[in-house]
Amino acid sequence: MPQEFHVIRCFACLVFQVHQVKKKPKWQCKMCGEKQSVRKVYGKGAGKDCRLLVQSLNMTAGQITDEDANCQLSSSDPLVEEKEMSQVFMEA
Ligand SMILES: [Zn+2]
Repeated sequence: MPQEFHVIRCFACLVFQVHQVKKKPKWQCKMCGEKQSVRKVYGKGAGKDCRLLVQSLNMTAGQITDEDANCQLSSSDPLVEEKEMSQVFMEA
């Protein structure tokens, strides 16, 4: 059985990367060394296919991040979010 790889993204540095699929969902980021568990798989298959996918994902990642930031600024007030966060902590 050939080795299976998947494309995952580091929550800390937001870099897409190829990792071999393991039984345990734990992995360590190749860029920043952050240990984490697999949350979302962006692609799965042979190593070569995954590497191509990672290349295209990382090329568009900057654009996606910028768009997300713009959306957040225009659609919600950061002060309101902070207030809601503190309420959650108060209740907990
Ligand atoms: Zn990382």
